[in-house]
Amino acid sequence: MATDTFTAPATLGTSTETRVVKNFVDGEWVDSVTGETFENRNPADTRDLVGIFQHSNKDDVSAAVDAAKRAFAKWRLVPAPRRAEIVFRAAEILIERKEDYARDMTREMGKVLAETRGDVQEAIDAAYYNAGEGRRLFGPTVPSEMPNKFAMAVRQPIGVCGMITPWNFPMAISSWKLLPAIVCGNTCVIKPAQDTPLSTFNLVRALSDAGLPKGVINIVAGYGAEVGTPIAEHPDVRAVSLTGSSAVGRIIGGIAAKSFKHCSLELGGKNPMIVLDDANLDLAIEGGLWGAFGTTGQRCTATSRMIVQKGVYREFVERLVDRAKKLKVGNGLDETVHMGPAINARQLETDLSYVEVGKSEGAKLVCGGNRLDKGDYAHGYFMEPTVFTDVDPKMRIAQEEIFGPVVGVIPCDSFEDAIEIANGIEYGLSSSIYTKDVNRAFTAMRDLYTGITYINAPTIGAEVHLPFGGTKATGNGHREGGIGAIDFYTEWKSVYVDYSDKLQKAQIDRED
Ligand code: NAD
Repeated sequence: MATDTFTAPATLGTSTETRVVKNFVDGEWVDSVTGETFENRNPADTRDLVGIFQHSNKDDVSAAVDAAKRAFAKWRLVPAPRRAEIVFRAAEILIERKEDYARDMTREMGKVLAETRGDVQEAIDAAYYNAGEGRRLFGPTVPSEMPNKFAMAVRQPIGVCGMITPWNFPMAISSWKLLPAIVCGNTCVIKPAQDTPLSTFNLVRALSDAGLPKGVINIVAGYGAEVGTPIAEHPDVRAVSLTGSSAVGRIIGGIAAKSFKHCSLELGGKNPMIVLDDANLDLAIEGGLWGAFGTTGQRCTATSRMIVQKGVYREFVERLVDRAKKLKVGNGLDETVHMGPAINARQLETDLSYVEVGKSEGAKLVCGGNRLDKGDYAHGYFMEPTVFTDVDPKMRIAQEEIFGPVVGVIPCDSFEDAIEIANGIEYGLSSSIYTKDVNRAFTAMRDLYTGITYINAPTIGAEVHLPFGGTKATGNGHREGGIGAIDFYTEWKSVYVDYSDKLQKAQIDRED
């Protein structure tokens, strides 16, 4: 198998020299047919050029799908436990390279080192989990209704899978898709987000160094419409998995539906954290800060609405704002920084435009709201942690996904009121409630209509072995993580073995 692996043209490590990264197709590093490239710059300091990537098009996608199709013919026949061993070895390689890959990620994405270490760790966790699945991939064996007949269902790979990923968890999200897909025997073509391609290359580098045969994973870098759409449209791609905005989800879902492809959509969120009068406020404030401003609010599960009962509203707001003002904003490579920049100029503009929306809607801006662009901030996309209070649940800042460090605090009268506000939104990814009342906690677990609910914790903190995804405009019913991903990346085949030596007609040959 060693001869099937590739050698990277440059070490994707901590080097600060500019790296030209080619597409990875059929185990080879190749230029895009366009001859064009695009730059990946550090959002904390745009003078820092992290890498140069291929500006690919439809023809690059076709070549990658062809390679994946050829590889599938062999890969599907490799026993799943053997496929899983490669993934297990990749986990160990990722552990060795964790610090380098975290630094690469902070440079390309901006989030602080503690968080990018967590992102690489999530890929490690996903690798160990999916490696274990290689020895399971369970299907049911059930009694047949006929004598001398054996009945079971087995999981089969689907074929070539296309993946399109966002920039906010650049290694974790790629790992959630690629690792279950290959353990199940599929081959892949992935398009990482154009703002953060390097982390996907780093993940695939680890897999390749662990012995992944050529063509099993192919990476085509580039932009959404030029690379993502052709992946979804390609007739030889049998399953497509997108994590991104609900707007792009509608496009990909529509394309996939036309050719009956499996399609998994993990989309936006506007996640509520409820704080009841009996909550441990210290815990709620600590959790709220982390939920709202971790990853600069750029998480699909970010706490973007805080629904606070009137008895503790004033104290909660005062203490939250006091803490938010003390958060240190800066370059995530500095270990003392709490919050990094927005991912790019467009996202920063969106964040700042929602500050204006909030003001014009009559919400009270009590913290932040401004761009930071002086001194050390001059070359990055920084803004202050921002808190609005007296937010009405129907305001745009309480309904629309901002995807930045802007949180709205909504007062509420009662537990029932809080649940209604929490659910009164088009998204349904994550939710949380702070209370010491076990009855209310259990009622919330039942009544919050989201894919994930936390009790006495903020809306973030998913673990790889549980289903991840949401309701309503957050997705189309599939789940990543855990067994949900195995379900998505396999096709059920029911098998009947008749050893009676005669024709037995199901539903017809009965003795009643
Ligand atoms: P995005 O939708 O702009 O882009 C996501 C990916 O889709 C990128 O790779 C992009 O290049 C590609 N794309 C864009 N337009 C396309 C098109 N027309 N055809 C095909 N591909 C296209 O999202 P983003 O800005 O990268 O990420 C932020 C969004 O992702 C937020 O809405 C966030 O909530 C969501 N997200 C969801 C989850 C989840 O699991 N539910 C996790 C992380 C992020």
